[in-house]
Amino acid sequence: MKKNNKPVICYPNSNLNLNNLKIYQKARLNLKKIEEIIISPRSAESFSVKAGNFFRIVSFKGPQVGDLNIFNKRNLEEKFYSGKTRALHGTHLTTGDQMWSSFPYLRPLTTITHDTLNWYGFDNDGGSVHDVIGTRCDPYTAKLLNGKNYHYCCHSNLVRALVKEKKLSIKEAEKYIHDVLNVFMCTGFTRDTHQYFMKASPVKPGDYIEFFAETDILCILSACPGGDCSKEHSSNKSQCYPLKVKIYKSINNHLKNWKPSEISNYDNSHGL
Ligand SMILES: [Zn+2]
Repeated sequence: MKKNNKPVICYPNSNLNLNNLKIYQKARLNLKKIEEIIISPRSAESFSVKAGNFFRIVSFKGPQVGDLNIFNKRNLEEKFYSGKTRALHGTHLTTGDQMWSSFPYLRPLTTITHDTLNWYGFDNDGGSVHDVIGTRCDPYTAKLLNGKNYHYCCHSNLVRALVKEKKLSIKEAEKYIHDVLNVFMCTGFTRDTHQYFMKASPVKPGDYIEFFAETDILCILSACPGGDCSKEHSSNKSQCYPLKVKIYKSINNHLKNWKPSEISNYDNSHGL
């Protein structure tokens, strides 16, 4: 039996068309703020970003992790696909990576254009920032492991915000909530047991991650009850801080020939 064969990258991403990043880097040099949203601790807010605009998730009061859902503004069925994004870009995202949408659409919803925590890289435990490996804290797993009903997990915060935004029933809204981008969260897999771990986020007031909207999107951001996720989540014990979202428009002309992303052109016949 042979065990140590050479690993092969499953999805070489050198074919992805990331040429636009250079244009975005120029466009972001002249930004005008058009909207600002505050997300209170243990709650979530929705916001829309037009194709071609930028938004930032900003730490401003203290270390705080955020859980981000993204949808096509006009079609909730097209939503962020954490698993395929992980397969394409790796376990943690930073500048230049894209957030892909679900099948049968599979197109970039956003491109990350700046990340002040880019310096962190991977630490000695294999930890890094902004993961697509965790799912989101949720009341079902909390109940399973602790036997308690807790209503302010990111999953529930995201559900409440979508109920409010789209006037849906809880049952309907919950179907659309999906695995998140864990903004500012510092996570990895333990070296020995390969279990998902978290540790205190390195985020400080003034840090931000910036996204370019590749199409018209609806976002929902939850300020996680875990705060900086140094101890525990799914409870009211951790110190939590608000998060800020800032939406910007580029006011130079670098985007004049740019076009929104297009859905997959696979013919959808699946061999039938
Ligand atoms: Zn959470």
